Amino acid sequence: MNTEKQDALPITVTNVTKTYGKVRALDDVSLDVKSGEFLTLLGPSGSGKSTLLMVLAGFTRPDCGSLKFGGSEVIRTPPHLRDVGMTFQSYALFPHMTVFGNVGYPLRLRKVPKVEMRDRVEQALETVQLGGFGDRRIDQLSGGQRQRVAVARAIVFEPRILLMDEPLSALDKKLREQMQIELRHLHEKLGMTTVYVTHDQREALTMSDRIAVVNHGRIMQLATPRDLYERPANRFVADFIGDSTFLPVTRRNGQVCYGDMALKHDAPAPDAPDLLLMIRPERIVLSDDGPVNGANNFPATVNDVVYQGDSYLVQARMEDGSQISIRRAMRGSNITSMPVVGDMITMSLAPEDTVLIDGSEA
Ligand code: ADP
Repeated sequence: MNTEKQDALPITVTNVTKTYGKVRALDDVSLDVKSGEFLTLLGPSGSGKSTLLMVLAGFTRPDCGSLKFGGSEVIRTPPHLRDVGMTFQSYALFPHMTVFGNVGYPLRLRKVPKVEMRDRVEQALETVQLGGFGDRRIDQLSGGQRQRVAVARAIVFEPRILLMDEPLSALDKKLREQMQIELRHLHEKLGMTTVYVTHDQREALTMSDRIAVVNHGRIMQLATPRDLYERPANRFVADFIGDSTFLPVTRRNGQVCYGDMALKHDAPAPDAPDLLLMIRPERIVLSDDGPVNGANNFPATVNDVVYQGDSYLVQARMEDGSQISIRRAMRGSNITSMPVVGDMITMSLAPEDTVLIDGSEA
């Protein structure tokens, strides 16, 4: 396999809709994937992620819309002519064949001569760190090794686009995390435009250049991991990625307020009728020494404390009765000073950590 970066292809999806009876699996989806980008489709089960991937692969024909790879329309192009490699959640390996047989399969379909096929399969196996495994049977491999075989099969014919549907979901947490880093490195090495499907927000944050959050067949937000976390477009995105407290705001003389807290006034849609104040639990400082200069300082009463190993989570009631969550990293001195139920605490929050979001899309 040529491990030099190849010419990757950008993908342009325009106004794609796919219905199954009354279900709108994809509802007027438009999306650009840049050349060589690692883009993740993230959303709950049934949101339309796999349907979109199947449209890209050519296994599902949408009701309407356009799909371009580079400048060429491919919506009518059959899967095997699309220059697309794909891995599936179930691996979809042939259990009765050897590793070599599985990885060589796409080359056999493409009538690649035997000698060249042997070289290319071995190189693909080396790329996924399975050099010398060609003669093994699939049922002699661990889950992680099977996943690597599936990846080798997807990249062996050097496609310019790689599609991956929940490739790590069958693996346990440790191996999954290790494979996330491996797949990311592989992407950097091969440079293929990659569209990756997962429902796991941490996996999406770890791996992606950009993430498209999908719900009910629509794209809620397309942004870098950092922008999604820091500036979610709406409540659905904020809720799906990370933990948050949402507080209702009021308007005073046209200004959005929450009590007399100093807020960062740059809501994406400042006139939205259902604006909410979003606060991430880890951005609140619980100060043993009282108020922090320059921050919003507000009292609350602790009503729950949960020890979670690397951190602890405090639930507290503020003066107006609202509940708020605070996460505090576990470090030496914290362990002895963990608050207990009934304590009055002072919380500090920098104005730049107050995020106003559109609350209408739950
Ligand atoms: P996800 O991958 O996000 O879990 P899917 O794309 O598989 O979601 O499904 C989106 C919606 O389309 C779901 O409501 C699902 O039941 C429906 N759907 C998907 N494929 C089919 C199909 N072949 N026939 C009927 N309904 C389908």
